[in-house]
Amino acid sequence: MSKEIRFNISIPTRDGFIGRECNNPDCRRYFQVHSTSIKAEMFCPYCAFKFSNNELLTKDQHDYVNEVATEQAKEYMFGEIDKMFGQLARKSSKAVKYTAHPQNYKAKPIQPKYTEKEVDSELTCPTCNFRFQVYGIFGYCPGCSSENLLIYDANLEIIKQEIASSQDSHRALRHAYADLVSTFESFCKKKAKAFTAETIQFQNLFDVRKLFKEHVKIDILENISSHDLLTLRRVFQKRHAYEHYQGIIEEKYIRMIPEDKNLLNQKAELSLDEFTRASHVLRHVLEKMV
Ligand SMILES: [Zn+2]
Ligand SMILES: [Zn+2]
Repeated sequence: MSKEIRFNISIPTRDGFIGRECNNPDCRRYFQVHSTSIKAEMFCPYCAFKFSNNELLTKDQHDYVNEVATEQAKEYMFGEIDKMFGQLARKSSKAVKYTAHPQNYKAKPIQPKYTEKEVDSELTCPTCNFRFQVYGIFGYCPGCSSENLLIYDANLEIIKQEIASSQDSHRALRHAYADLVSTFESFCKKKAKAFTAETIQFQNLFDVRKLFKEHVKIDILENISSHDLLTLRRVFQKRHAYEHYQGIIEEKYIRMIPEDKNLLNQKAELSLDEFTRASHVLRHVLEKMV
């Protein structure tokens, strides 16, 4: 006899938001969705993979759900045993003696051992009104997977405010530069998947330009002035320098940005102004791909 037993277990929220973790092994990043926005299927805001909501439990939630389910299963099981032996005892007079389980087992209340993390920015999708929270700039709405650039704008505003109010603005800027480059990377990856299996370095503006030109006849850098392009190239290379060389401008940087050759071996300077200008230029680039 096999019988499926189902329990409904509610997962604790933080101000109505519930943590989710992407199930794509290459991503695994954390975000939050508002409990009123949850759908049976959702998209990861970072990598745009589509998942059933049930696949997006975080490790903490898994542990919590398991504990609660174990307690509920115990309550159910003891109840069934009581019923079974109680009936048997009644039917068979002396032969079977059964004392009902002392206090009719009640599932122990389980307190979660975690609280959901704090996430950078809360957003509402302008297309489908889905409410969610993510780290940094991101590509997609978990509700409709829309790559709405209004979300990009809203998120940039939040990041700029954070840099302005941060006690360690240099650190906040490093993160912001990295976010900008990874936004470009994830947008391009998703777009390119539709027309090619070719893998390139999506952090390289010119490789990506070549790929899009070849396959879809779009010049992603069209109508971008050389001055604007220089700003964007600098942000990409500075991010690389901070990721791999503690921010030091190496030969390789100079090969990519010969305009900065007098800065060799110096620490790359980051600024809110440069970030803001680069994010505007990048928006134009992304617009060409949407
Ligand atoms: Zn993901
Ligand atoms: Zn949406």
